[in-house]
Amino acid sequence: MPPVFVYAEVTPEGPRPVALELLTKARSLGDPVAAVALGPGATAAAETLGAYGASTVFANDDPVFSETLGHAAALSLAGLVEEHRPGLVLFSTSHDARDVAGRLQALTGSTLMSNATDLSATDRAQMPIFGGAVTVEVALEGPDPKIVLVRPTSFAAEPSGGTATVEPVPVPQGSPWPRRVERHEEAATGPRLEEARVVVSGGRGLQEASNFALLEELAGLLKGAVGASRAVVDAGWVPYSYQIGQTGRTVKPEVYIAVGISGATQHVVGMKGAKRIVAINKDPDAPIFRLADLGVVGDALTVVPQVIAEIRSRRG
Ligand SMILES: Cc1cc2nc3c(=O)[nH]c(=O)nc-3n(C[C@H](O)[C@H](O)[C@H](O)COP(=O)(O)OP(=O)(O)OC[C@H]3O[C@@H](n4cnc5c(N)ncnc54)[C@H](O)[C@@H]3O)c2cc1C
Repeated sequence: MPPVFVYAEVTPEGPRPVALELLTKARSLGDPVAAVALGPGATAAAETLGAYGASTVFANDDPVFSETLGHAAALSLAGLVEEHRPGLVLFSTSHDARDVAGRLQALTGSTLMSNATDLSATDRAQMPIFGGAVTVEVALEGPDPKIVLVRPTSFAAEPSGGTATVEPVPVPQGSPWPRRVERHEEAATGPRLEEARVVVSGGRGLQEASNFALLEELAGLLKGAVGASRAVVDAGWVPYSYQIGQTGRTVKPEVYIAVGISGATQHVVGMKGAKRIVAINKDPDAPIFRLADLGVVGDALTVVPQVIAEIRSRRG
């Protein structure tokens, strides 16, 4: 099997969960599996990356990698590709990883596919089309390495119990690259949407933006995160970072509670992998009920406060 690289996004707090998902998948596609971790936190992340299947972690903690919009990282990766000839490099479909993957493709002249949800070989990947109604298998032609961007939560992360050798990567030489001068982090409480075990999601049936406070309250009680349909993101009720679906995030929580969401295919593609789906909708024929394990036909503005009151009373 050809070597497979995973571009592992890291932070000083540890590797991003999607890096561990990609390593888990990479183990079934190639051998050896190596992670490339660049930027602050890279070396410290090696132990965890090893535990999920990387036998080697190519690492450098220099902040230049996180500040230069993918320029430095793509050059380092291109050097590693030249030296080690992997058959496949896996990336997450995050904003930062997309910058790096696009530049790597330009440097190597290889084939890039984005928005993949699965791979059956280093040159065959699946992606949803027609708003998620159909999944197609795509044959990747052209020179190696194939570069595939995978949607987060496409795979469950499972440890392999391995350990990794850390191989330092030099900072590439180059003329001054554009630098990120400011970073805006949206204030958030509770778990990240893709990592939450419970997601409480709202749609146009909530009537107005202020009613999202009810979902925040319910999500807080369930230690979950709040998501939304595109209709309410487009209406400016909540930020785009809440959006779930084809043009938003993909979530796979234990429980997904859809409140006042019709269940359009473009929404469903981002949440149908949830273990249990609860729907609250006043229309008994809403498509979301075809998917729901538990459906409540009723007005969201009556039902959600009742659920909150019930949880509070049971907890005393
Ligand atoms: C290219 C493309 C990409 C798209 N990407 C996405 C995407 O990523 N994510 C996404 O979500 N959508 C996406 N959409 C839009 C999608 O097609 C739907 O328009 C959208 O999901 C509808 O949002 P909604 O369910 O909140 O609104 P609606 O379809 O208007 O549904 C509102 C629901 O609320 C119910 N309701 C009304 N009042 C109440 C009440 N008081 N109590 C309870 N229920 C009530 C209604 O019965 C209805 O079922 C995309 C569309 C296109 C064309």
